[in-house]
Amino acid sequence: MLSPYQWQVSSHLTRAKKAGTPATLTLKEWVATVKYFDNKCAYCRTRPTEVLEHFLPIILGGGTTANNCIPACESCNSKKGSSHPDRLSRLDFSVENIEYIKRYLLGEVNVNPPHTVNSRALVVYGT
Ligand SMILES: [Zn+2]
Repeated sequence: MLSPYQWQVSSHLTRAKKAGTPATLTLKEWVATVKYFDNKCAYCRTRPTEVLEHFLPIILGGGTTANNCIPACESCNSKKGSSHPDRLSRLDFSVENIEYIKRYLLGEVNVNPPHTVNSRALVVYGT
């Protein structure tokens, strides 16, 4: 039997392949992403992860890849629908959370655990 994570990855790889978009997400990458967001929805950061969400929807050319998949709750997932990422602030999503998602997907955030970016280090260098 497949674990929920395995099922999410394999079903979404199939969806992307059918749509002709990139399909490269591995189980390891997905588990790391879910963990990165603390097993919470990346949009609201309060409810638990329920679905694999494509930041750029498959219908708009997004793939099932490590730099396009984030965990979401059913509520945020249905609110987002197939909106382009640039339209999310109009849908009442937290701008801060959206920026955080973008930085993560672009690979600009690689701190583990999250939220420990050390600004003090910068202060030390500045003095
Ligand atoms: Zn949510």
